[in-house]
Amino acid sequence: MNDLGNKSTETICELCQIELNRLAEVELITDEEMDILEQPNRMVSANLEVKMDDGSVRTFPSFRIQYNNARGPTKGGIRFHPSVSQDETEELAFLMTLKCAVVNIPYGGAKGGVVVDPSQLSEQELERLSREYIRAYHDVIGPKKDIPAPDINTNGTIMGWMMDEYERIEGEKSPGVITGKPPKLGGSKGRTSATSLGGAIITDLFVDDQGWDNKNTDVAIQGFGNVGSWLAKFLHERGYNVVAVSDVAGAIYDPNGIDIEALFDQYEENGDLFEMDGVDEIGNDELLTMDVDLLIPAAIEDQITEDNMEDIQASAIVEMANGPTTPTADEHLRDRGIPVVPDILANAGGVTVSYFEWLQNISYEYWNKEKVQKKLENYMKDAYKNVKEKQNDEETSLREAAYLRAIDRVKAAEQARGR
Ligand code: NAD
Repeated sequence: MNDLGNKSTETICELCQIELNRLAEVELITDEEMDILEQPNRMVSANLEVKMDDGSVRTFPSFRIQYNNARGPTKGGIRFHPSVSQDETEELAFLMTLKCAVVNIPYGGAKGGVVVDPSQLSEQELERLSREYIRAYHDVIGPKKDIPAPDINTNGTIMGWMMDEYERIEGEKSPGVITGKPPKLGGSKGRTSATSLGGAIITDLFVDDQGWDNKNTDVAIQGFGNVGSWLAKFLHERGYNVVAVSDVAGAIYDPNGIDIEALFDQYEENGDLFEMDGVDEIGNDELLTMDVDLLIPAAIEDQITEDNMEDIQASAIVEMANGPTTPTADEHLRDRGIPVVPDILANAGGVTVSYFEWLQNISYEYWNKEKVQKKLENYMKDAYKNVKEKQNDEETSLREAAYLRAIDRVKAAEQARGR
């Protein structure tokens, strides 16, 4: 493991810098706050050597970046993807710092990643890689230090292997070292749908603030994976008119509202949106520019960009994916008066239930789903209220208000520590 230094010599990732600069320009954050947030606490990297099934050894670059630990142990997923880089990991660790602070859970932010295409590995190779990641970083992670979780291409099975490897090295049980585990290894009830339930709660509060009625609110959702499908289900149950949904293969549309219950079950069986009866097939680009009340990107990053921002017709946007709106497009939407509920607020339900998992693990007391969901509702409602108050006080966008609320909390913790 290489320590890349407690303080980076590189400049902060582009997106974080743009957001911070924007806040500094309008004097909403001070030089002192910029200083705290511009550089991560600790960045470590390791080349993971993994024995392949054919006996050869391959090396996979990997990272763990702990951005800020003033508010508690750092928290953040581990991504397995060919495009993982130090910059991307740093950006995601920064956003995790803010996300944990927005929902006021006692964590700092971190992120990890391995440069690998996991679809090219056998299950055994994937397990050896996952265990190797923990062997490389076990010194810097732990239930009171830094708590990883799943991210793109990592899942409960991988978290189980990683927890097992950590416990072997430490020689003691330590389920709180990692979240997103399968329930039989201490995973929390309600985790699978937590991000979407949190998003539905935030959407309700936002829609109510706009003076809209759920039942007359048309919604288009990009992405029908874990987040998009559960969100569609929760919104449908709450009376919203989900008129369009998409996956990587394309989108479906029904102006009268798609029967999401039927689609959810059918999609689980065959993974094909287009098998649905009575809907029109449209393109993904068309979904993004539809004339709806709410557009909800819930797939991947960089979907609302310079290329399509002028064509966006939605009255508002709720970001369930991480980073779906580029900074330029965000500014353009702001100029046009199209409100955006930012990712660090809208999709924070997942990390909140990860926190509940950790609480259950370290207390050895396990909660039922109703308790998890009720507590999640309280956290999300408080977070929305706090961000909204900041927005009203500072007359800013919801994104700026969420950043400012988070930065206030990080700074307060730094100061209380006398740093
Ligand atoms: P997932 O892999 O389960 O689903 C992604 C979905 O997006 C799939 O339906 C896929 O077909 C679709 N998709 C991919 N590329 C697309 C494209 N170009 N156009 C349209 N659809 C496309 O992932 P997920 O867990 O649902 O995560 C979705 C987003 O939410 C990601 O940005 C993720 O970082 C973010 N997020 C997830 C969680 C969580 O708890 N899963 C928490 C916070 C944020």
